[in-house]
Amino acid sequence: MNINPIVNDAARRCKTLARQLGGDVKVIDHLKFNSKLVPLICPFSNNLGINWEKKIVYISKAATIFDVSGMIHEMGHVFACAKKPSLTKEYEFFGWEYATATKLGLLFIWNEGSENYALIEDGGKDWGDLSAEQKDSLIQERLSYAIKKRMVSKNFIPLTIR
Ligand SMILES: [Zn+2]
Repeated sequence: MNINPIVNDAARRCKTLARQLGGDVKVIDHLKFNSKLVPLICPFSNNLGINWEKKIVYISKAATIFDVSGMIHEMGHVFACAKKPSLTKEYEFFGWEYATATKLGLLFIWNEGSENYALIEDGGKDWGDLSAEQKDSLIQERLSYAIKKRMVSKNFIPLTIR
């Protein structure tokens, strides 16, 4: 199976950053649960998996452009969370995701793919429900938080806390 070229390009950009941060993004033919290799398949996409201990995000060749935001989200779990995914508040690293999507030139595709991202601390709304002004102020707040927690540098470069 051939991977979608847009997904492939995004995965390559994500891989470059992941390697700089001491991890990796790997494109694989078929994503299957494997307790040693891929111990976690993402609950919202069968095309994404992670090995949190080894800081590896897996994306299958069957992934679509709607998985690109998920790939960035999973990188957030790997690099911007001190705890395993099951112990993490999803919303904690939203600023890291934004900074990463911006740095990698994937902001448009991340924004589109994050439409159904539930912002639990914003009255249970989804990202796609917010107006442009609401999105702006939320991003400012989440970026400040990410900088304070050293997930993102003061000039908005995504870092790793692990
Ligand atoms: Zn998550």
